[in-house]
Amino acid sequence: CGIVGYVGSQVPSSRPLEVALNGLKRLEYRGYDSAGVALVAPGVDRVVSAKKAGKLLNLTAELEAHPLADATASIGHTRWATHGAPNDLNAHPHLADGGRLAVIHNGIVENFAALRVELAADGVTFLSETDTEVAAHLLAKELAEAGDLTEAMRRTAVRLEGTFTLLAVHADRPDTVVGARHDSPLVVGLGEGENFLGSDVAAFIAFTREALELGQDQIATITPDAVSVIDFEGAVVEPRRFTVDWDA
Ligand code: GLU
Repeated sequence: CGIVGYVGSQVPSSRPLEVALNGLKRLEYRGYDSAGVALVAPGVDRVVSAKKAGKLLNLTAELEAHPLADATASIGHTRWATHGAPNDLNAHPHLADGGRLAVIHNGIVENFAALRVELAADGVTFLSETDTEVAAHLLAKELAEAGDLTEAMRRTAVRLEGTFTLLAVHADRPDTVVGARHDSPLVVGLGEGENFLGSDVAAFIAFTREALELGQDQIATITPDAVSVIDFEGAVVEPRRFTVDWDA
């Protein structure tokens, strides 16, 4: 329901988690039933994540009881369940690639049942009842073939039917967050030595007012110093830049 992504300096810090939690707090107005975050850092071979059903307070209490290490990139999600009950297991992020890949998703993957059968035949074990976990494992499969997270996201996006904003981080790419959108919103926030993704500008308004508007069927790849956008055919896109005109 609400989505935030962040990537900053190469030096791990508490900022990626702070930005994700600030974004989720500001996205609360949309309504949600669960919340979660995932972090990646250089030299750490797995994503670290936490997710809880209920209010954001449940997630922050969990993070106080079990603090996560410093990081360079983060993704955060508030869920409004469509497939699977609102419980801890079905909350996002969903992990794949042996815990090295984390995915969050707004929307509905209409063809999840067929994809689930295909992936189960490949030996994938599913931990949740969500349509989203299917997208996470499909992305892992495409990544194994493509070798590049952005191209893997493009190949995944063209195979998904329904509506989606998808964000992904991978332990091997602690300087990158990739997001895709189809019939669901995604905006980029531009910082200095850091960049942001959000399902709306509220996700990053506390940190920057400079933003890029993504069009339908586009994929944004953010690193601390660069943003690149392609369409679902792989062609480079120049998104429209704007300044958010709002009182934070
Ligand atoms: N369909 C997904 C789920 O039920 C995502 C729902 C959302 O947009 O939050 O987990």
